[in-house]
Amino acid sequence: MPLDQPQDVPPEIASTEASAGLHALTRELNAELSHRAASDVIETALRVISPLRLVSSFGAESVALLHLAAMVDRDIPVIFIDTELLFTETLVYQQELAERLGLRNLRIIRNALIAARDPQNMLHKTNPDACCALRKSAPLQDALNGSNGWITGRKRFQSQERAALPFFEVEPETLRIKVNPLAHWSRDNVEEYITENRLPRHPLVARGYPSIGCAPCTSPVRAGEDLRAGRWRNTSKDECGIHFAGGRMIRQGAET
Ligand code: SF4
Repeated sequence: MPLDQPQDVPPEIASTEASAGLHALTRELNAELSHRAASDVIETALRVISPLRLVSSFGAESVALLHLAAMVDRDIPVIFIDTELLFTETLVYQQELAERLGLRNLRIIRNALIAARDPQNMLHKTNPDACCALRKSAPLQDALNGSNGWITGRKRFQSQERAALPFFEVEPETLRIKVNPLAHWSRDNVEEYITENRLPRHPLVARGYPSIGCAPCTSPVRAGEDLRAGRWRNTSKDECGIHFAGGRMIRQGAET
């Protein structure tokens, strides 16, 4: 079974073997599901990867993935990271949407160290990478501990970096499988799915926010601007996920 590590070999060899096994498994799954629907990807992920989590920001497009997942299994563990600097609209939307979709295993995660490390809530101004690490990445990694994979809402159209995003990929630092059921969806696909299924939008979408993160770091987008132009406006930062591996800081998109 590719997700298990053998007990009687040195850890570094077991890790190498596990990594090779996981890459073989993801190659196999990507080939098998290349022309299948997002719901097939979720069903397969739930069958092959255990424990599995779904991570959602309950942002502008999140409802599509959450609805698809709820149709497959309402008991899927859904992780929502509350950075304590989110819009009030996001917190209300999260509660209402989870209830409407009947999600029965919602896990709201906060980092207990926020009050001590950022008592004035100013870290986002002085060091946004450290702020994201404290408020998003560290609690996300804690929430994923013990899991063998997680489902995200990332899509190829969102950035150059994601242009070749597969359905299944191996996170090299953690050896977890990251599942991207909507990788092949266009922006129009998302809009059509939400409209056809009469799903509720995040209220800030109608007020000019096509991408929604923390309140201090998100502004409305003007006509003709990139959809993510309102995130960390006027800075070079464009991804929220900061992950530390082997002492190195790695940017990684944790947008869902
Ligand atoms: S998006 Fe802004 S406020 Fe939120 S964690 Fe990152 S830097 Fe901090």
